[in-house]
This record gives sequence, structure tokens and C-alpha cells, in this order.
Amino acid sequence: MGRGNNDIKPFIVMDVLERAQSLERRGISIVHLEIGEPDFPTPKCIVDSGIAALNAGKTHYTDSRGILELRTAVAAYSNGRYGTTITGEQVLVTMGTSPALLLVLSTLIDEAGTEIILGNPYYPCYPNFIRYLNGTPRFIDTREEDGFQLKPGDVERAIGPRTKAILVNSPSNPTGTVMPRKDLEAICNLGVPVISDEIYHGLVYGEKEHSSLEFTRNTFVLNGFSKLFAMTGWRLGYIIAPKERVRRLQILLQNIFISPTAFVQHAGVTALSNEVPEIDEMRKQYDARRRYLLDALPGIGLATAVEPKGAFYFFVGAGHINGNSYELAFDILEKAGVAITPGIDFGSRGEGHLRISYANSLEQIAEGMRRLERYLENCGGTP
Ligand code: PMP
Repeated sequence: MGRGNNDIKPFIVMDVLERAQSLERRGISIVHLEIGEPDFPTPKCIVDSGIAALNAGKTHYTDSRGILELRTAVAAYSNGRYGTTITGEQVLVTMGTSPALLLVLSTLIDEAGTEIILGNPYYPCYPNFIRYLNGTPRFIDTREEDGFQLKPGDVERAIGPRTKAILVNSPSNPTGTVMPRKDLEAICNLGVPVISDEIYHGLVYGEKEHSSLEFTRNTFVLNGFSKLFAMTGWRLGYIIAPKERVRRLQILLQNIFISPTAFVQHAGVTALSNEVPEIDEMRKQYDARRRYLLDALPGIGLATAVEPKGAFYFFVGAGHINGNSYELAFDILEKAGVAITPGIDFGSRGEGHLRISYANSLEQIAEGMRRLERYLENCGGTP
């Protein structure tokens, strides 16, 4: 049987971005609230460290699992944040969180029909990767009043003989919500491996977030430098895996990637091992934007049931304006000059919603809100 790569769906957010860019080429002003990418530059000490590593000749293959210094730094960072006791032996460095997810799923999906449990709405790559590997995404329809996060009772009922893992993402893309500690703990105790995508860890604006590592040994943590450290283009991430699962992952890494990029890993060590003052500053700015939107969005009829306390997204209900989020997002783009992502990009449960990213300046966000308000007045959408 062939791989399920014909089932891979387009990333609609990229369609929105590309249309927005073509309007911009015609001189039309667009406010970008669609992209899930930090608008900040990479902090200077990290950039300097990457340059120094290049100049020092760090231009060769490394250990396929990543340089020992970075694996040790990841373990120390994780132990410092979560009070865990992992070692560098459990860490594998990857070229971003995306390959980390693909590798972990590759080792878990060993036969067609293997089920991975995940919530709907979801980050689009999750089911795409699962299908690509001939697995079956086992969706759970999450509830808006739970911030679209998985609840342990629903997960327990979905576990069957083909279940190989539960996939969690907190803080979440597209919702920005954080899973309560007790729910994460209960999900980690269901006896099934938990894949925890922790890429938005550190970007929380309230209570501290928790790692699956605090609650079980039976977990694969995925993380990366793209979001917290504003390093999307560097392509650097990692897996923290149970010791006995490392060898299998290492073999895949050796074959597929040989090794992660050498000098980039040295920049990663600097990011994790130093006080980087810009991180706090970026977090403060995201939070100021978040609080601005918390005030502004309900006023124009775009509300969330649960306050998003992490990442840089709001996932707002918009079904009262148009139940077809794809049509709505493109209409807003054409008529109001605001680029936002239709909820349908994140699965059937995302329909009737829009994802608004606040990875843009407060000025641009305020301009976007003014344009949206005008658009909604004209189409009679405000309640
Ligand atoms: N997981 C989630 C939930 C994401 O939002 C993203 C980036 N949009 C990724 C993984 C992948 O990030 P990267 O490959 O840049 O580390």
C-alpha cells in the first residue's frame, strides 16, 4: 500500500498570505493577522553566537542526535523549568519541531490504521503527518467552553486496541488556550504514550504551563526555538523521548537528516544557557497585544468562550457573520484589507471561527481592528 500523501490538505493560511501579498503588489494596504510567526528579530546574543560558530568552523556534520552541549543544555533547561530529571541521553536535536513530530509519529505508526488521538480543531500538520504515514487520526470534538482542549474522560473513551499515542498541544495553535494542569496529568496517566507539542511553552501570560514530563515517563516532548526565541528561519527543535525509544529515533535521524545544522546548534546552546533579556520583552509585548484584543474583540462581536492565555492567537466565533469561514476570511481580506486565517484550516470543529494572530505590532493590530469594525458595520454582522 502506498503512503497516504495524496490526502495531505493545503495549508489555507498560506493561500491567505499569498493572496494578501498579491493585493499588496497592486498597492493595496493589508494588515497581517494571519501568520503564526514572531514579528521580532532573533535576539542579538543568539545571532552573534551563530556567526561566531560559523567563523569558528562549525560547518561539519555533527552527531546525528545533535551536539552533546546542546543535548545537555536542553536537559538542564527542561529540568530547571519543570523540576524533571531528564538527561541529555533522552534528547535528539532536529531541524525544527515539524521534523521532530514527523520522526516521533514515524516510530509509533508501525502499521496501517494505527490510531493517534487528537482534538479537533487541530494544528493542520498533525492529521496530515498521521495520514502521510498511513495512520488514522482519531479525532475528538473538543468543546468551545473547554477552550477546545482535550478532556481526559473523552480521551479515555476514545482509546482502543489500535491507539498508539495521544497528541496534546498546550498552549495551543489555533486557540491560544492552556490545558489545566489536572487534565494534562490525567491524560498522562491513561497508560498510552503522550506526544506533547510544547512549542509555545514560555509564551504564557498567567499561570505557568506544565510539561507532560512532569507526569509520566511515557511521553515524547516536541519543542523548538521558532516561537519563544523568534528563530523560525534557523530551523531548530528537539525531541525528549523515553530512553528506550531513543535508538529507533536516532536511526531515522541518521538516515534522513545525517545531522542537524552545526552552527545553528551552537546558537541554540546560547539561547538556552543564558539570560536573554529580549525574551521577557517580547513576552511583555505579546501580552500587551493580547490584552488589547481581549478588550477590543468582544466590542465588535468577535468573542472567545475561554481567555487565551498563551501562544499568540485568538480563535473567535464568527458564525453569526458567515458560517463559511473560508468565504468570510477572503471577503474580509478583499474588502477590509485584513488577513486572518479561516477556522476551517484547523478542522471541521474550526468552522464558523477565525484565527487572529497577534504576532504583529500594536499599531497594526489596532488598525486591523478599526478595519474589521468598519467591515462588520457594513455587513451587519455585529450583534
Ligand atoms: N507545532 C505547532 C503547534 C506550531 O504552531 C508550529 C509552527 N507553526 C510547529 C509545530 C512547527 O514549528 P517549527 O517547525 O518551526 O519548529
